[in-house]
Amino acid sequence: MREDLIRVEHLKLYYPVKGGIITHTVRNIHAVDDVSFSIREGETLGLVGESGCGKSTIGRALVGLETPTAGKIYYQGRDLSALSQKEMREIRTQLQMVFQDPYSSLNPRKHIYEILAQPMLYHHCTTKEHVMRDVEKLLELVGLPRQVLGRYPHEFSGGQRQRIGIAKALSLNPRFIVCDEPVSALDVSIQAQILNLLKRLQKELHLTLLFVGHGLGAVNYVSDRIAVMYLGKIVELGEAREIFRHPAHPYTQALLRAVPVPDPAEKNVSKQFLAGEVGDGSRPPAGCRFHPRCPYAREVCQTQEPALEQLACETEHSSACLFAREVCQMQEPARELLLGEAGYPGVSPHAAKSGAGKGDAHV
Ligand code: SF4
Repeated sequence: MREDLIRVEHLKLYYPVKGGIITHTVRNIHAVDDVSFSIREGETLGLVGESGCGKSTIGRALVGLETPTAGKIYYQGRDLSALSQKEMREIRTQLQMVFQDPYSSLNPRKHIYEILAQPMLYHHCTTKEHVMRDVEKLLELVGLPRQVLGRYPHEFSGGQRQRIGIAKALSLNPRFIVCDEPVSALDVSIQAQILNLLKRLQKELHLTLLFVGHGLGAVNYVSDRIAVMYLGKIVELGEAREIFRHPAHPYTQALLRAVPVPDPAEKNVSKQFLAGEVGDGSRPPAGCRFHPRCPYAREVCQTQEPALEQLACETEHSSACLFAREVCQMQEPARELLLGEAGYPGVSPHAAKSGAGKGDAHV
């Protein structure tokens, strides 16, 4: 088994809510509440859940953009909170991020050459003699011609801007990249191209990725394992295929039902979608946080908080549900169209098998 590159232990991130006549903290929003998991060297872990569940906050904490309220983050076995500023600066180059909105992550006053070259020179990842060669290599990696070097971010389409965002993340030779909903702001046809690009780069450069998304279709397409989050907690974690075949948490089952299936036969199949809203992060429900929306909830669910526990029969599969095994029995039959290479809407099984996903995609 591959070694852990990142290990997260009991991570908490709370944000204070201010109020009162003399402004003071009246309560805390529990964006991430006691979360533990690890990411293995060379794998892609998908992190999925509704908006506001804390998935992006975890991603930002892993690359040092948020300071944990409590808990530890280990990178290659080293506790990030115990590092000196100098050590942290060195490690920061290995932890990079691709943002959801590429436009806001690129300086509009700088042209592409400056955007890519300046961080490389600052962090001594290249020399003045070799910087042009290295910038051109980056552009080639992400499928852009060298002619774009003198252009500014506003002169590109959304997909091209995301390619530049990926090139920027790669410019410091990272080992770990957080992809924070990198395709959410793009057209569906462009989404597939960017997902294919990320898959190819991960393989070629032996990267470790945390892929944050709110649709299981896209997350499944790129991920080896998937963690499902609800209201600041991980409620299910396991191999991507296993999660799709045997979802053991009612929330995961609801997310799966919401994935659009590109099959006309499914058109008239009635689906039971999840009712209600995600709860208030500053006042999470007692017991199981999902109980106000759970179709299987019982009385005990209102008082007993379920821990994320490994299911005895499936070694790589954990669920935070008191009745995980029963829930597992009550799943819908697995739909093959949602699994594997052909699982992302817009990527045909033929395209996936013929290797369109391995080069610059033509979807
Ligand atoms: Fe539903 Fe109860 Fe399981 Fe929570 S513990 S997911 S409320 S069945």
